[in-house]
Amino acid sequence: MTDFDYDLFVIGAGSGGVRASRIAASHGARVAVAEEFRIGGTCVIRGCVPKKLLVYASHFAHELHDASKYGWTLGDVSFDWNKLRDFVASDVDRLERAYTATLDNNKVEHFHERAAVAGPNTVRLASGREISAKFILIAVGAWPVMPEIDGAEHCITSNEVFHLPALPKRVVIQGAGYIALEFAGIFNALGSDVTVVNRSDKILRGYDHDLTDRLLPIMQARGIRFAFNRPIRRVEKSADGSLIVHAGEGDPIGADVVMVATGRRPKTDGLGLDTASVALGSGGEIPVDEYNRTSCSSIYAVGDVTDRVQLTPVAIREGHAFADTVFGSMPRTTAYDHIPSAVFSQPPLAAVGLTEAQAREVHGHVKVYTSDFRPMKNMFSEVMERGYYKLVVDPQTDKVLGVHMIGPDAPEILQAVAIAVKAGLTKAQFDETVALHPSMAEELVLMR
Ligand code: NDP
Repeated sequence: MTDFDYDLFVIGAGSGGVRASRIAASHGARVAVAEEFRIGGTCVIRGCVPKKLLVYASHFAHELHDASKYGWTLGDVSFDWNKLRDFVASDVDRLERAYTATLDNNKVEHFHERAAVAGPNTVRLASGREISAKFILIAVGAWPVMPEIDGAEHCITSNEVFHLPALPKRVVIQGAGYIALEFAGIFNALGSDVTVVNRSDKILRGYDHDLTDRLLPIMQARGIRFAFNRPIRRVEKSADGSLIVHAGEGDPIGADVVMVATGRRPKTDGLGLDTASVALGSGGEIPVDEYNRTSCSSIYAVGDVTDRVQLTPVAIREGHAFADTVFGSMPRTTAYDHIPSAVFSQPPLAAVGLTEAQAREVHGHVKVYTSDFRPMKNMFSEVMERGYYKLVVDPQTDKVLGVHMIGPDAPEILQAVAIAVKAGLTKAQFDETVALHPSMAEELVLMR
């Protein structure tokens, strides 16, 4: 592999790119990676990690509220957005250093500038330098979609939300998917007045209806307004700097911040993929085969840019499989069934496997077991929110096809039960497991 400057050049140092770089280097490859923004990518820098810290911060609103029932006397309680924002930013800095150290420790060279493909074995850096590599990996991720509306320049996306100069009094969030509902919960708990505006009346498409039907009234009871079937037409800025959102037929909605969360598009614009005849899909995604190879045999792609499943652990697995396949003589693919997922809404929901509707499509008839319970954690709370768990079971084999949960700590519990579903365990085997009492998770083995 000595005719090239590197064995592997990775474009994008996010979750998929860093994992692929590290593993390829461990297999003996000479690796370089280019990153135009910050090492760590969306998840670490402006996604999952800082978002989860905001979720934790917002939980205190409810816990402090309930504390007096448990005998605590609290003094004056106040919240300081700037302190939280700066703490989150400092943790992101720490993680970026850790990711950079991972590259350094594995002797992966990194270039802090934009890179584009300039041929099947060539990349061109923003500085103009051309570098050759036997293989190129595209791991540039995705970018928030900004609908074409008048006044879009007054709106922010999840890229900017972590840097707000102050906690907004009124937030309008466009979309009703992962990002919209997670941030609706965060801002609501921190004290903002929140309105979720969506073009349809569906929330969290893809999740089991019983979960979303449970989540919506809880979020409304917590004070979040939902304006459904109201696509945003225009966002207007008033003389005092406040915003007015014109959406569908209803009255205009006032806001201090308008956040758009309407999906994320693969970030392939201007990436020079045509110079290597890398085919693109209609949404800008890079189609790849099961080994992550594009239509150009020396160029591979992993993660959100391929628009298969836009989740960090999936990108990491794809990056790892790519490196093992190409540099480790261990051809590996990624399994896309039984991927657990969660929405860190308040309360959170989590799921693995088939929804009831999907299972009926595949298997015709299915058995459904449910538990609708009041979590002990909420007993003293003014929050009367009930948890809901659902098992979808194949009546022929008794295998558990899907688990769907809404309630406190659902994502933490779901990760463990996903092992059982992935292993193909039956409902009878769930039932043979002794309950761990008292817990919410015990509901999983007590459904009859
Ligand atoms: P989602 O795909 O989850 O939701 C998009 C929302 O925007 C939907 O409510 C959709 O409405 C609406 N929408 C889509 N296109 C338009 C449009 N052109 N105009 C108006 N509204 C529109 O996207 P997110 O941005 O919330 O998240 C992007 C991805 O990031 C997720 O798919 C997920 O993979 C990942 N993510 C994962 C998280 C996690 O694992 N916890 C957290 C955050 C993000 P409708 O449904 O009516 O079509």
